[in-house]
Amino acid sequence: MRQCVGNKAVICPKVGLKDIFFIDKGVGKDYMKYFGKIAQKHVDFLLCDPDSMEPLCGIELDDISHTNKKAYKRDIFVEKVYNDANLELIRISSKSGYTLSEVETALTGVFDKSKKIFTIQNNTEIVLCPKCSMPMVIRKASKGQNAGKEFYGCPNFPKCKEIINIDC
Ligand SMILES: [Zn+2]
Repeated sequence: MRQCVGNKAVICPKVGLKDIFFIDKGVGKDYMKYFGKIAQKHVDFLLCDPDSMEPLCGIELDDISHTNKKAYKRDIFVEKVYNDANLELIRISSKSGYTLSEVETALTGVFDKSKKIFTIQNNTEIVLCPKCSMPMVIRKASKGQNAGKEFYGCPNFPKCKEIINIDC
């Protein structure tokens, strides 16, 4: 990841969600109830702008433990927290090693928000999900007025419902 981000970001490992997000004081006496929901949770990596230290995105490595029901509920909650704070959360499935280009692909949207579509070596267009920065997959609408039409869908569906229409 250091090779990939260079000096475009500072990599902070294992940051507590309570250090990234704050609870709206407007919740009054429920403050501790909400604080408790984020107090013990961490993100694997937080990338920050090197000049302002403003958070750029969170990165979670999803291992096998993310497939059980409790972890699924946790993931949904955490994603909502990021969403509400308008901070990107990138999920990468955990494995023993990554190639540089895999990491670059996962992080593309972080440094260049305007560049959702880019070309890779074999000239295949890759469209990244605007929310998850995962390469999107082509799906076909099965019903509705767009039935039969192809579109890009997020691989995290149904957790992420981002779609991008294919203009033809
Ligand atoms: Zn998505």
